[in-house]
Amino acid sequence: MAADAITNADIAELLARESERTEGRAAKALRRASRAALMWPEEAGRLRDADRPFTELRAVGPFTARFLSTWLREGTSVRERPPLRDGFLSYAQAREVVASHADWRTGLEGDLQMHTDETDGAASVEDMVAAARALGHHYVAITDHSKTLRITNGMDETRLAAQGERIDALNATGMPTWALRAIEMDLTPEGAGDMDPSALARLDLVLGAFHSKLRLREDQTERYLTALANPDVHVLAHPRGRIYNFRAGLSADWERVARRAAETGTALEIDAYPDRQDLDVDRLRVVAESGGWVSIGTDAHTPSELVFFEIGIAAAILAGLPRERILNYLPLRQLREWAGRIRARRHGDPAKRSVAMAGKRETIDTTPGKQGGSRYVRRDSGGRFSTDQVRAGRSVAQDRRVKAKNKAPKGMKDRGD
Ligand SMILES: [Zn+2]
Repeated sequence: MAADAITNADIAELLARESERTEGRAAKALRRASRAALMWPEEAGRLRDADRPFTELRAVGPFTARFLSTWLREGTSVRERPPLRDGFLSYAQAREVVASHADWRTGLEGDLQMHTDETDGAASVEDMVAAARALGHHYVAITDHSKTLRITNGMDETRLAAQGERIDALNATGMPTWALRAIEMDLTPEGAGDMDPSALARLDLVLGAFHSKLRLREDQTERYLTALANPDVHVLAHPRGRIYNFRAGLSADWERVARRAAETGTALEIDAYPDRQDLDVDRLRVVAESGGWVSIGTDAHTPSELVFFEIGIAAAILAGLPRERILNYLPLRQLREWAGRIRARRHGDPAKRSVAMAGKRETIDTTPGKQGGSRYVRRDSGGRFSTDQVRAGRSVAQDRRVKAKNKAPKGMKDRGD
């Protein structure tokens, strides 16, 4: 491909602009092609160089192909994009980023958001797991929608439990890719979930996501801070609720949100679906600074959409996120322990906490009021202190003094889980 060739990301923008200048069916076709350009597996410039027709590309017919020919011939460059279309990687670009960072493939374990025909997905759990296995995933989280989201045929507690039994049965067949029992629970704008906590307690992973009031223009920092206080949520899914060329998504003070997420241990998601990419690279840089956890999920609704996982990896690479803070790099057992520790810490039950800590080399007594004598101070990611410590009335200064005196054992330092 010639060095000056425009990229699929440029083409996506040019198609969107062209669609805005057009009307009727042509406008719709161009708009559809703009979105599809983010999903094309190869740069259109390469097709041209190989004398292959653009109509090989999804959503490109002869009418749209003529625009592509002109733009690629003229090298029309795109400098600025409206917020509605800003900060999206194309799948072709993401593949190149990942290909040039081969080490990021090592240790990659699984995909943490996908839907099945239990709600609004197109395939069964079995088919999604088989497709994920073909991609080399060791586990996947099955995250169908919760009951409030009627438009997706969201599950109530009974259906969630029944799905859990089917997942257990599938895992029992010895499939090499493990299916985690999970959910994408709808959160009210106040951050409350819509499922019985006891039903959530039986899951491996709980994603929480906003699906309403996503077009508000005012700062939504408070909404995020309250959602992060929800004790049942492990991962805040598609945090901004943006959709390419459709909805800009919510705004907030991301430094504060990322810092609080690091304190509560809640992972912020990279929803890798091409037209979501939520959080985007710029905001992920802020998350990288905070030291908090990140979770990558394709939000796939069909087996073929699982490949877009690479968009999430590329975003993580470009944002400079450390792999040690990406849940998808934790082996299955460690991922489940992570979720268990978060749950136990938040529900404040010392008995549960000691069970959750069982995998650790050191016994750590986090019972409120008993921390004064511990060998060292556990800190949350981002250097914050846990709610247990705060409840126990220890000051930050005190903790610093204790920490200075007692060096944390190797491997436990800065581990915020
Ligand atoms: Zn969602």
